[in-house]
Amino acid sequence: MDFRFTPEEDAFRAKIHAWLETTTRAVFGRGQDGPGASTASLMDVGDESRWQRLKQYHRRLYDAGYAALHWPKQYGGGGATLIEQAIYQDEALSFGMPLYGCNQLAIDRIGPTLMFMGTQAQQDRYLPSMLTGEEIWCQGYSEPNAGSDLAGLQTRAVVDGDSFVVNGQKVWTSLAHRADWQVLLVRTDSEAPKHKGISYLLVDMKSPGITVRPLVQITGDAGFNEVFYDNVRVPKENLVGEINQGWQVSIATLMYERVSGGTRHPVERTINELLELAKQVQFEGMPAHQHPYVRQKLAQFAVEARCLRLSRYRSLTSQLKGKIPGPESSFGKLFATELNLRVAMFADELLGPYGTLEKGSLGAVEGGRWSQRTLSARGLTIAAGSSEIQHNIIGERVLKLPKG
Ligand SMILES: Cc1cc2nc3c(=O)[nH]c(=O)nc-3n(C[C@H](O)[C@H](O)[C@H](O)COP(=O)(O)OP(=O)(O)OC[C@H]3O[C@@H](n4cnc5c(N)ncnc54)[C@H](O)[C@@H]3O)c2cc1C
Repeated sequence: MDFRFTPEEDAFRAKIHAWLETTTRAVFGRGQDGPGASTASLMDVGDESRWQRLKQYHRRLYDAGYAALHWPKQYGGGGATLIEQAIYQDEALSFGMPLYGCNQLAIDRIGPTLMFMGTQAQQDRYLPSMLTGEEIWCQGYSEPNAGSDLAGLQTRAVVDGDSFVVNGQKVWTSLAHRADWQVLLVRTDSEAPKHKGISYLLVDMKSPGITVRPLVQITGDAGFNEVFYDNVRVPKENLVGEINQGWQVSIATLMYERVSGGTRHPVERTINELLELAKQVQFEGMPAHQHPYVRQKLAQFAVEARCLRLSRYRSLTSQLKGKIPGPESSFGKLFATELNLRVAMFADELLGPYGTLEKGSLGAVEGGRWSQRTLSARGLTIAAGSSEIQHNIIGERVLKLPKG
């Protein structure tokens, strides 16, 4: 492992940093919170005006050639090296920016899945507008009775002439209320073993028969949705891969996510903000940042965040040596989201009763953003595979423990 960057890589970092500084200030304003860099779901994009600013930001990202540094050039991406991608990710997260603008799922996972498994026609039709952010995508996987056990999904599709006809329900679909398109996992063979009867469809969200019902979360925002399908017709050419092979297609997506570096969270930025908070508030009658208990906590968080970063570099090094990343990406997801939750909860502890004041209410410290964070941080430990599921994966596939 070599932690030094070459002069060219340092120059690349400086260029990205300068671009982010100018652009985030132009779009989101000086000292304003960005839209939140939660890569899991974009749950915290907030209200319409924030969404519009995020779209503006996306356009600038695209114009600068940074919207998809990890995509090969032949598909309109940046064709960046793994190190350049990691540098871009570190910098974007340090500014609190989502890595792929307003089209997180499309650029991170769905586009690459189409590059691997889609037809030429599908690639030509969908990839360009993913990049520009003109068509927003969401992911219809989870159902009321199929979350951790995704392969148990029941939304059905039957072939009728040139179409699939879809009936059923999805839930927790982030951004469905803003999305133009959706990747949808459906059951096309109910007789086959559960992993073998699933297909992967590309669905136009404006199709007749789709109803999107927003779910209001504890934060007061409505970032995810229930989606109902009532005889929705999906043209056969929108099938990705073979019929009943949708599980393999979704695994390809997962593999790509691992190769592209796995889940990333802006936890270091949050810890720096916690330090600033500790300088402003009192704790047990003294400035919080001088209190031994607070100092110990801050140091502990900083050490953990550094371990996380080094562990990501270790994984990057093994990828650079040509090794395929394995289930250790579960460790990154688990550790980052749990650390993020503990940091947010500690901020609440520092704030005491003030920590319970809602966003925007009189007396709320920093506009109440810490209480918002605590409320949304829990969701990140569930999205994209809950902490318990990550523990299972680590136990079984990394530590080789017997199945529970
Ligand atoms: C913020 C957010 C955004 C999301 N966005 C999307 C999206 O865009 N598209 C989409 O399809 N889904 C999305 N989801 C859904 C997410 O994928 C599911 O919530 C997640 O997979 C868990 O499934 P579940 O909610 O059905 O819980 P369940 O699977 O019912 O689990 C309930 C509890 O049991 C535990 N549990 C379950 N099985 C096991 C086991 N084998 N061993 C130990 N413990 C277990 C879980 O950890 C959990 O604590 C999102 C969720 C959140 C929170």
